[in-house]
Amino acid sequence: MTHQIDTIALPHGRPGTSRQLTIHQFGQPGARPKAYIQAGLHADELPGMLVARHLIDRLAALDGQGKVAGHVVLIPMANPIGLDQIIMGGHMGQFDLAGGVNFNRAFADLSDPVSARLAAGTLGPLSADPEANRRLLQAALSQAAGEIRTRTETEALRKLLLSHAVDADLVLDLHCDSEALMHLYTTPCCWPLGVDDLAARLDCGVALLAETSGGNPFDEVCSTPWDSLRRGHGGPATPIPVGCISVTVELRGQHDVDETMARRDADALIDHLGWRGILDVPAPAMAIAADIATPLAAVDRVRAPAGGVVLYHAMLGEQVQAGQHVACVLDPMTGTRHACHAASDGPVWARSRNRYACPGDILLSIAGREVLVTSGPLLTA
Ligand SMILES: [Zn+2]
Repeated sequence: MTHQIDTIALPHGRPGTSRQLTIHQFGQPGARPKAYIQAGLHADELPGMLVARHLIDRLAALDGQGKVAGHVVLIPMANPIGLDQIIMGGHMGQFDLAGGVNFNRAFADLSDPVSARLAAGTLGPLSADPEANRRLLQAALSQAAGEIRTRTETEALRKLLLSHAVDADLVLDLHCDSEALMHLYTTPCCWPLGVDDLAARLDCGVALLAETSGGNPFDEVCSTPWDSLRRGHGGPATPIPVGCISVTVELRGQHDVDETMARRDADALIDHLGWRGILDVPAPAMAIAADIATPLAAVDRVRAPAGGVVLYHAMLGEQVQAGQHVACVLDPMTGTRHACHAASDGPVWARSRNRYACPGDILLSIAGREVLVTSGPLLTA
């Protein structure tokens, strides 16, 4: 039995306060492939924490049977700062109240320090063996994460999470949306390398692809350094693989906290870890639905043209057409109903659960096919 549980105190707490992060590990540290899974980076997103609890039970049992072939690191409640942000009865888990920044932004991109070491020759040379290069660069990324300097508790949390993830072969960051279908975010490089299998196992309604969506979210700082390093240092004699397959899994909406669903989702993740050889479990073959993938830049965000009460005319999962009347915003003072129309054909994959809109708020998101956004950040908050 190698299930190991560590509790680490976060530095930089205010006097008289302390917060801690609990980290579960299964299999032998150093064994490969390594998977890193976290839940609750947005601390008010509970479906992932429930799935993580089921994963801990499943992984502990498999570990006891010697069936963890690789190494799995699992952090079921990744944000003790956000867990504590209850304001007048409401949970504010998305943004750090102390600094105002989204907890899933502003992670360190370690491409530059690793690139500098490669250029300076202090890492040892890249070779013609992509697997050897993967391990060399994973160790370098891990070292660079360890050298991140922090001043605040939130920065220390970001460093701690990244330090455990950045040398993994697979990173799964479990989130949820407001009201949504099961969906995921990943990069175009990662998608065909088994993220399509994961999407099929989870029965995702849509997969949103972007190499860089802006703001350095957790999943991207784990995967995109490999693209940067390949551009700067890769070539036929020094192949640099997609060293980390990184995915943000959106486990439906914030109210989809249901034990039956969570158990099924955990089963899907266990099967995927088996399919990748991280666990020694048989994984049934899946039919891949490649057509669910679309550029994140093609998402049609339907916004409120005015403030008021939101009335939806399109259901989650509904396939809508460009020009379709998908919502109204009612001004109760005047009785005016401001109509909102889709700009693209595609499925409605997310809606705001907030039925009181301010002008400009995003009400629905539709997975279009044509790129609509050509500059600026692609994520919404
Ligand atoms: Zn989230």
